[in-house]
Amino acid sequence: MLIVQKFGGSSVADARRIKAVAGIIAETYRNDNSVVVVLSAQGDTTDDLIEKAAEINPNPSKREMDMLLATGEQQSIALCAMALESMGIPAVSMTGWQAGIQTTSAYGNSRIRSIKTERVLAELDRKRVVLVAGFQGTTTFFDITTLGRGGSDTTAVALAAAMHADLCQIYTDVEGVFTADPRAVPTAHKLDEITYDEMLELASMGAKVLHNRSVEMARKYSVKLEVLSSFTRKPGTIVKEKVKMEETKISGIAKDSDIARVALVGLEDTPGVAFKIFSLMAKNGVNVDIILQSIGRENSKDISFTVAKGDLATAEAALMEARETIGFNKLDVSSTLCKVSIVGAGMINSSGVASQMFEALYESSVNIHMISTSEIKVSVLIDDVNSDIAMKAIHRKFFGE
Ligand code: ADP
Ligand code: ASP
Ligand code: MG
Repeated sequence: MLIVQKFGGSSVADARRIKAVAGIIAETYRNDNSVVVVLSAQGDTTDDLIEKAAEINPNPSKREMDMLLATGEQQSIALCAMALESMGIPAVSMTGWQAGIQTTSAYGNSRIRSIKTERVLAELDRKRVVLVAGFQGTTTFFDITTLGRGGSDTTAVALAAAMHADLCQIYTDVEGVFTADPRAVPTAHKLDEITYDEMLELASMGAKVLHNRSVEMARKYSVKLEVLSSFTRKPGTIVKEKVKMEETKISGIAKDSDIARVALVGLEDTPGVAFKIFSLMAKNGVNVDIILQSIGRENSKDISFTVAKGDLATAEAALMEARETIGFNKLDVSSTLCKVSIVGAGMINSSGVASQMFEALYESSVNIHMISTSEIKVSVLIDDVNSDIAMKAIHRKFFGE
């Protein structure tokens, strides 16, 4: 079999962990498999590099940031190759460029365009384990890019798709995908399987166990995906097209703290106001998530919406600059909020799921600022300080103690 194995930052945090991971890789290799390994930077390396940059320039160019951040993954692959060498396993490490990973030029958040797999396949033919640096690629002009935080998952799935691997294993520090982040909700339980659609929704709503683009790609190319622990050797969670119908209406709960709310108070209640606001946001590259508009009263209305925290300053500046053309009394922003979502395909056929979520929040006196729903998801915007209580209460409501 051809297997792609990805190990995250905590799985390769120090020498002992790298040796442990090399043990898993060696075992897979000795069982007659071709193995491609994707590694993240060790432990907090990426955060440390970001801090290092900030000490020198608070506003560095994105190109130089990518040049810097990509070094973290390069350390991991070289170290792990050395660990495999010492165990007598032939191994070769490769940067994103050497592995043929070509991306768009959107530094810091680039997308994989294509993968030229010749070199990797040639090394596999030579019976070597190939270790590829996660999270990175190069543009057509060979400038180094990164795929966005958590992007090593996407490197792994993209390689698995390009090489038609039989399995893509994402090794991490939890035993699989849980009904909620087990760090926030200790009673959360591991799911044996989950559909691509639900996993994509969970990942997009903030469950960082998988990078959402990796799930998108796995679904598109039908990559068989398994999320499992590199610490305890147990079966993990399989992510696939269809799963056995479970009785639960929801499969999981997710939290996203990377959210800020912008409120425009005292807008004119006439056609075209929303268009003016949101075309301005689009022009400035600001992604808008939940939107809420109040009922018009005395020719005045309010519109509030959420954006990623990193886009708040841009959104605010653009709106203030266009204050005259848009016409509003007050601009109010808040970044002490979070979005909590429940996700589940079972929601489509069962009514009252949203109200159960609201009941849980009511019972724990958590106030809701905004609500948004889709076919398989309900999200609420609440104060960040309430997130733990809210997650636990919602979990109890749907999954019991
Ligand atoms: P890695 O470094 O291996 O990529 P991450 O930190 O990116 O690991 O992702 C794993 C973490 O995701 C877990 O430690 C856990 O706290 C968090 N997490 C959030 N939601 C979930 C969930 N539903 N199931 C499992 N883990 C989750
Ligand atoms: N090292 C990168 C990060 O910390 C990529 C990854 O871990 O997936 O975001
Ligand atoms: Mg991750």
